[in-house]
Amino acid sequence: MITRSPATLQRVIPTQASTDTPGWQAQLSGAVRDPHVLLDRLKLDPNWLPGAERGHALFEVRVPEAYLARIRPGDPADPLLRQVLPLNAETDSVRGFVSDPLEEAEHSPHPGLIHKYPGRVLLIASPTCAINCRYCFRRHFPYSENSPSRAQWDEVLNYLRVDPSIQEAILSGGDPLASSDKRLAWLVERLDEIPHLKRLRIHTRLPVVIPDRIDDALLGWLNATRLQKVVVLHINHANEIDDAVVDACARLRSTGATLLNQSVLLRGVNDDVETLATLSERLFEAGVLPYYLHVLDPVTGAAHFDVPDDEAIALVDALREQLAGFLMPRLVREVPGENSKTPLGG
Ligand SMILES: *Cc1c(COP(=O)(O)O)cnc(C)c1O
Ligand code: SF4
Repeated sequence: MITRSPATLQRVIPTQASTDTPGWQAQLSGAVRDPHVLLDRLKLDPNWLPGAERGHALFEVRVPEAYLARIRPGDPADPLLRQVLPLNAETDSVRGFVSDPLEEAEHSPHPGLIHKYPGRVLLIASPTCAINCRYCFRRHFPYSENSPSRAQWDEVLNYLRVDPSIQEAILSGGDPLASSDKRLAWLVERLDEIPHLKRLRIHTRLPVVIPDRIDDALLGWLNATRLQKVVVLHINHANEIDDAVVDACARLRSTGATLLNQSVLLRGVNDDVETLATLSERLFEAGVLPYYLHVLDPVTGAAHFDVPDDEAIALVDALREQLAGFLMPRLVREVPGENSKTPLGG
């Protein structure tokens, strides 16, 4: 990782792609990773620091400049800030909140592979993320054990080759697009060769966090695959969609990819009808269809984001009265042992 001097951190990187914007890798390694710098840059009261440091010790701060630029300085209630600022509340131990709420470890036949649902498998294509979301259900995930080497990829690919019921490969992580284009191009070429695979799905937050990630090198391998492409973004609030994100979505769509979005229902971020309606409208303007609205997975350290089920169902019922049907996300929960996400409410 490149260590940046505080002077460099002061410089705000424009979110529009331009020749003097650092490449995405530099933006990734230059992300703010120090709670003190985060508070300072956003002109927040230093009283937040002790709590931020305690949360940071559990799951480190990581916020790229392009995302930081969308946060209102001086506003501790900013919905984007809430997603990235560690709080003392993360140290609370709350009954029912555990380190591996989805019991994914039990569905991993090989390192780097999770096969829980029929017909599709999840490949952990990169152990890291461009941003560390405080509510993340993978905040305790043993990533180091799940970053496959070439030899391990061969085993994962063999698993796919010998099971003709698998039609879809989902690149996940961490964030798969945190991987280099060289590695991704290699992997997608191997997937292309498996005759029964029909679809390539990519679950990523990178186009939102660092829109410059959607560059020519990425579009190159994405355009080259014979597989049908679905990109599932992760956006929780309309303020995350600035012009650079809209452009990144347009570049992705230029490859023929279908763009969907999943959100997590989060206390203090998007737990009201107006916010959710605006998000759906803004997504569609960017050419993205709402897919899932997840209730929070009960992971240790994230209980302060929880919205109770009855409230979540009431919110979505009210949302349905405001939105066109195709702008409605499906409210779901992930229940360990089930063969699909479980719908909530009607
Ligand atoms: C969510 C998930 C999928 C994809 O499920 P869809 O309902 O098809 O979006 C696949 N595998 C795992 C392990 C998942 O958690
Ligand atoms: S981008 Fe996704 S996987 Fe990464 S920290 Fe955020 S929620 Fe977790």
